[in-house]
Amino acid sequence: MIVESFPVGPLGCNCSIVVDPVSKAAVVIDPGGDFAAIRERLERAGARVASIVHTHTHIDHVGATAPLQAWTGAPARIHEADRFLYEMLPVQAALVGCPLPEVCDLAGDLRDGLAVQAGAFELGVLETPGHTPGSLSFVLVTPEGPLAFTGDTLFRRGIGRTDLWGGDSATILRSLRGKLLTLDDATRVIPGHGPATTIGEEKRANPFVGKR
Ligand SMILES: [Zn+2]
Ligand SMILES: [Zn+2]
Repeated sequence: MIVESFPVGPLGCNCSIVVDPVSKAAVVIDPGGDFAAIRERLERAGARVASIVHTHTHIDHVGATAPLQAWTGAPARIHEADRFLYEMLPVQAALVGCPLPEVCDLAGDLRDGLAVQAGAFELGVLETPGHTPGSLSFVLVTPEGPLAFTGDTLFRRGIGRTDLWGGDSATILRSLRGKLLTLDDATRVIPGHGPATTIGEEKRANPFVGKR
């Protein structure tokens, strides 16, 4: 399994591509910007994108979704509860001070317990609301152990902000403790921004773990 994560866009959103090395079927997680760079990595891997999935629809996570969707023809998928944020992209662009990205049709079909299939692998979907109402995390079992893509719900030593549209601090703490921290300690974590970590490390050192 090929997993590449790299920062894209002005806010450094971690975009990830997961490719089955045999069938070349792939999933792209959070194509937040820099479409040309994402396309180049997919071309180099010989990938055929089966699904484009999003941890949430803040502008820095969906900035290259439309050109990627047009180029691959793959469905661009979100949790339905985040659709209102995508419809507010002009407001988000004004807040962040970045240009308005192109938009495309989104499928609002991702929900808790679903598995996103691509070739020989699948991404498990976990609902982890709080940063936004439709925030998701994705879990992938790899030969090197489990890997979680936590979006802006969990960062190394932090959690996402909850003061934007639909954010809620009690809800994000519930997602953290009730969902993410129940994953195996050895689970490697690729957050929405910044460096990687593990669930075990965050249980010990994340200041929000014990916060009320
Ligand atoms: Zn966000
Ligand atoms: Zn973000």
